[in-house]
Amino acid sequence: MKKIFFTPGPSQLYPTVEKHLKYALEKQLFSISHRSVDFQNIYNETVSNIKKLFTVPKDHSVFFLSSATEAMERIIENGVEKKSFHLVNGAFSSKFFQISQDLKKQPEKFEVEAGKGFDVNSINITKNTEVICITHNETSTGVAVPVDDIYSLKKRHPDSFIGVDIVSSAPYVTIDAAKIDYLFFSVQKGFGMPSGLGVLIVSPIAMEKSIYLAKKGTNIGSYHNFLQLEKYALKSQTPMTPNVLGIYLLGKVSGDMLKKGLKTIRKETEEKAGMVYRLAENHELLSPFVADKNNRSKTVIVINVKGGSEVLIKKLKEKGIVVGKGYKQFKEEHIRIANFPTHSTSQMAKLVKLLF
Ligand SMILES: *Cc1c(COP(=O)(O)O)cnc(C)c1O
Repeated sequence: MKKIFFTPGPSQLYPTVEKHLKYALEKQLFSISHRSVDFQNIYNETVSNIKKLFTVPKDHSVFFLSSATEAMERIIENGVEKKSFHLVNGAFSSKFFQISQDLKKQPEKFEVEAGKGFDVNSINITKNTEVICITHNETSTGVAVPVDDIYSLKKRHPDSFIGVDIVSSAPYVTIDAAKIDYLFFSVQKGFGMPSGLGVLIVSPIAMEKSIYLAKKGTNIGSYHNFLQLEKYALKSQTPMTPNVLGIYLLGKVSGDMLKKGLKTIRKETEEKAGMVYRLAENHELLSPFVADKNNRSKTVIVINVKGGSEVLIKKLKEKGIVVGKGYKQFKEEHIRIANFPTHSTSQMAKLVKLLF
């Protein structure tokens, strides 16, 4: 029996991945040189579709990395001399903070309990903060930060750059890339692709900061610093042999998503999320982990299971449905349900029916 993966990453492959993969194999695309015109064409198609999908201004750079975790490291290296500030409410936002610490910066954080959102207007951010780091959708707990709160932080701190992790909310999230200095995601979540590719979008002033730090003698990294990435991006290439499979598939899958239309994708996402939350709210044994509706993620739905989640996870697996376990300390209490564009309404209805 073929399973359906509702896991929050890797997740179910987007339905068109198989077709694109077969075509690429037939055309031997994974043997071409990464310095060839054929590769440059693939690169350009992907960058162009990403720019359309996220309405990225012309002067922003799009870089390909190996993962979202790498994007966090590159942002700190290339944007922070001393101080980053982190909004922490779970494992991934915490990792961003940790990376800054590991790179010997002096990060600060504002931390709230797992499952809670932020009252952004009450957060005191140190004046000399260089980058404010925000995880839009905290995959470990199912909390999403309202995008207006992100804009409002930027407004209150115009001299700090804003870095936003949209790994598990892209491409559903509506966020104005022009207002964000570093926007990043990896592809094994909302894009329904094999893992191993990260995408980082960088604003022109954030590029300047990297140049400034390099001139000053700060360590901004080596082959994947922004200067190297930009130098090759201008030639529609990457500094090293990249994940050609990932770059190719991302171009195709984002093209398919553009054809389907973000409006439709968003509408379907909200309908499916509504089905799951409604069930959880009215169920004897299930309840949404995130109490405040304004902070509930539409793309990663975390549900508390009275009496433990293990039996339920097993039962669903027997029916061919794989949901995520709770993250770390919630492993035995929660289930996490990914609600990505790859998950059709009828698949979600099947899951809801089994949970009922
Ligand atoms: C999965 C995830 C990451 C890490 O992604 P990798 O591609 O494994 O580095 C970072 N942030 C969030 C919010 C995630 O869900």
